[in-house]
Amino acid sequence: MWTIPKPEISARETFDICIEGIRDPNLKARLQGIRQQIEDADTDFDARGVASQLYAIAQAANVVGVAGAVTADEMVKLYERHMARQKSRGRATYDKIMVGALHGQCPFCGHLPVSTLDHSLGKAEYPVLAVTPINLIPCCKDCNHKKGTAAALTPETQFLHAYYDDLTADRWLYAQIVQGSPPGATFYVNPPAHWDGVTAQRVNRHFRELELASLYASQSGRQLQNIRSSLAKNYDAAGAQAVAEDLIERSDSCAQVTVNSWEGALYEAAANDAWYCGGGFRA
Ligand SMILES: [Zn+2]
Repeated sequence: MWTIPKPEISARETFDICIEGIRDPNLKARLQGIRQQIEDADTDFDARGVASQLYAIAQAANVVGVAGAVTADEMVKLYERHMARQKSRGRATYDKIMVGALHGQCPFCGHLPVSTLDHSLGKAEYPVLAVTPINLIPCCKDCNHKKGTAAALTPETQFLHAYYDDLTADRWLYAQIVQGSPPGATFYVNPPAHWDGVTAQRVNRHFRELELASLYASQSGRQLQNIRSSLAKNYDAAGAQAVAEDLIERSDSCAQVTVNSWEGALYEAAANDAWYCGGGFRA
């Protein structure tokens, strides 16, 4: 899981751009009447995001403003037709949020390409946040689908938020070599001892629900094949210890970028595996 910078555009600004395209005068008046609610919800979301309390935000069937209520369905349509749809007025903002992901890669899995925006709190359950940029996270379609839309109502079931939850300081992703021909790897979460229980549960849940162990395992076989020839040269020249040192160097280099990359965990696991360094890499 990677942390990425928050989009700088406000909910109020985004909302105003989206409602420019509304033609129905009644709907437009009701939408104009909830500007303050949109702005207040944006401020509240940011404060709760910083405090890891997004689960405490109340769900609602509509947004009540000075000119009447705007239903959840109307807010969902506003997002779909006036922000997500190609060539709509809000699409430029949508695209701006999409490019916020590092290297165009999904911050949830840290691997697949970004192709959509995920509502951190679902647009149907939290209509006031339907077009709020800090509630929209660029991600891949796989993670978006696996995450689902079920609302998290307790601290430990809150999905990790790429703008607020920073897990980059601590090492928590590890791997183990699977002996075989060809060799492979399994991946697991090992939370550091100083984490509180809720953080550990959230990271474990994130890893499990997005099926990251199988995603990383499926990439590992190919990666190990890619380095086979270079390891063989090292082994033939200087033996198993040289292979382990080469792998540690690769792992350290990955850790300079991020301490929890699947590649770094893979190289470290390979370096620590006597069977692999002793010739298993050729299997
Ligand atoms: Zn992903």
